[in-house]
Amino acid sequence: MIKTSEYKKRRQQLMKRVGDDAVIILKSRDEMLRNGDAQYRYRQDSDFYYLTGFNEPDALLVLLTGQPHQAEILFCREKNPDKMTWDGPMVGTEGAVSDYGFDQAYDINEVDQRLPVLLQDRERLVFKLGEHEQFDHKISSWVRNIEQRKGQKSRAPEEFVSVNPMIHDMRVYKSPAEIRCISQSADIVAKAHKRMMKVCKPGIYEYQLQAEYLYELTQHQSEPSYLPIIGGGANACILHYIHNNQLLKDGDLVLIDAGAEYDFYASDITRTFPVNGRFTARQRDLYAVVLQAQKDAIDAVKPGNPWNKPHEAAVTTLSQGLLDLGILKGNLNQVLDEKTYRQYYMHMTGHWLGLDVHDCGDYQVDDLWIELEKDMVLTVEPALYINPGSEAPKAWHGMGIRIEDDIQVTAQGHKVLSSGVVKEIDEIEELMRG
Ligand code: CA
Repeated sequence: MIKTSEYKKRRQQLMKRVGDDAVIILKSRDEMLRNGDAQYRYRQDSDFYYLTGFNEPDALLVLLTGQPHQAEILFCREKNPDKMTWDGPMVGTEGAVSDYGFDQAYDINEVDQRLPVLLQDRERLVFKLGEHEQFDHKISSWVRNIEQRKGQKSRAPEEFVSVNPMIHDMRVYKSPAEIRCISQSADIVAKAHKRMMKVCKPGIYEYQLQAEYLYELTQHQSEPSYLPIIGGGANACILHYIHNNQLLKDGDLVLIDAGAEYDFYASDITRTFPVNGRFTARQRDLYAVVLQAQKDAIDAVKPGNPWNKPHEAAVTTLSQGLLDLGILKGNLNQVLDEKTYRQYYMHMTGHWLGLDVHDCGDYQVDDLWIELEKDMVLTVEPALYINPGSEAPKAWHGMGIRIEDDIQVTAQGHKVLSSGVVKEIDEIEELMRG
């Protein structure tokens, strides 16, 4: 749980970064219909939530920085007894001040009257430039409104600045409370992965494992942080396989990439295991390569290392493993130079993790990899996919193996936040034996 004081601290940090004489405006995410009259469950925009902790639509965050006066303002829906009869509790303007730490809060219906007044005499307008066409029009209309009042000596902002790089730079470094949220989320989904391992047997369908996963998440007031991938046999070689509707067969592996979102923070874990609970000799050999690659990549997660160091470590181990198993030919230097490993490993080894499963933050700036720093959180997920159509010897066809964990960069190195679910061959077999 993130405290109100931490949200306030973030707003103040952002205001400091933006500097005096500016106004920062962020809008909440709109509600979305799934179909007909049915809504998707509302989930706030991550940047907006990062600065407010406020999970209602129809809201606007307005931060006035420095001179002439500083203020943190929230426009939101006013409490409405009729609406509350249908939809339950609302925060309302009073609650926004008392429970969310805003200096002022106003009814969102007053935004068109109040915004031009707040914007006047501010030099810079800082917002999500060009992200929401309708909202850009709104901003223009508020600015025009001030310009039309120029006779009254008020000044409209002249500089328009994108707020994203500043917020995203803050979000890359996780606070202790955020790390706790990610760990909790990882603990929950680790339980779900274990549950799926225990329940799995030949003859059930991929979606039956998905049912176990959703059960465990729901028991912990959590929901998927993205659509889970549950792919038996060659389905594991389809990177974004989300149909999850096929039979799980004796002798096949199943790859499960499934995360949780808990208290708005995502986890992202992948495990691959034999449907019948026992690795074949070949599965064991290929799995051991990916597991070693993952350990080597995790070892490369430490402050000062460039972002792609874990990836390079993984690629080296995977390539050597493919050579040792006779899946690739030649020598290691050739394989790395000519990138022939790419037919079996075609993605990067991880991504940032936080409020979003693919969290914000640069990976490169001016062609240089970002350096890993303390309290960044990333995934490490090497894999090998031996597609049935590939050049590999037939015996390997249809095996897809990925192992993914969530890693915090610490002062000295790293901490695995998703260690709640086994990944060693013997441990998986033991757990599945029940
Ligand atoms: Ca994943």
